[in-house]
Amino acid sequence: MRKTVCIFAHPDDEAFGPSGTIAKFADEGEVFLICVTNGNDKNNGERELIKIRDQELHESSKILGVKKVYCLKYADGELCNNKYHEVVGKIEKILKKIQPDTLITFEARGVSGHIDHMFCSMIASYIFRENRYIKRLLYFCMPKVRSLLMKDYFIYFPPGYTKKEVDIVVDISKYWNLKIESIKAHQSQKKDVERVLNLLRLGNFLRFLPKEEYFLVLKR
Ligand SMILES: [Zn+2]
Repeated sequence: MRKTVCIFAHPDDEAFGPSGTIAKFADEGEVFLICVTNGNDKNNGERELIKIRDQELHESSKILGVKKVYCLKYADGELCNNKYHEVVGKIEKILKKIQPDTLITFEARGVSGHIDHMFCSMIASYIFRENRYIKRLLYFCMPKVRSLLMKDYFIYFPPGYTKKEVDIVVDISKYWNLKIESIKAHQSQKKDVERVLNLLRLGNFLRFLPKEEYFLVLKR
């Protein structure tokens, strides 16, 4: 049976990211999720928000059929070189128990340019290189057409990928409703939830965003 571990930075990355593929892989095998931060920046210190985001992450993961969620509870925005091998060590310990054949993370530019995302992409790549029992690493990519709509985003939003540029296109039409429901589970991020849902619905209706998810793949 295929075992997949997702390595993401924030509670909601699984939903806004490759949630259709997560639901599909959970249907066909087992999926585990490692969330490196608690989704709250250190200066904020709102214990209530940390709790809510944790609940939302568990709710969303349950909808997608994720078997178990591991939260490493780093502060949002604090992932950097100093924490590289510390986080790698914690993740490797979890992976050793699960023995996954597949990892899923963000493509190298973090999809949206968020540095926490880029950190996760780099450490997942390192873990893949060092642990031969992992056979595949899937890098989630955003379709180029969708990234072009983000040109006024508050930070630099890297261009996404065309269908020709990626290695795998996953048909998620069967899991579309689960994707939508997992996004809706993140109500503390209401603004993002509404923006993304409107975009997905409009994009699907006008056919520029089919029910598909893109990945670059490393294999051995
Ligand atoms: Zn994120």
